[in-house]
Amino acid sequence: MVHCPDCETALADESDVEFVEMDATTGFLAASKRFYVANCAECGNTLGSGVAGAKGGGGAV
Ligand SMILES: [Zn+2]
Repeated sequence: MVHCPDCETALADESDVEFVEMDATTGFLAASKRFYVANCAECGNTLGSGVAGAKGGGGAV
């Protein structure tokens, strides 16, 4: 269970977190990856970020 450290909203559902995906067009990430930022839906606090949609990770399609 994730809680927003700012407003302490329980982020139990995907709708509570706003994922902002960005295409890797800046060149420092591989084109097969997408960078995302997770924001609290209540106060907009940035909770974290990472890379999603990387290819060739596990081999399962
Ligand atoms: Zn919040």
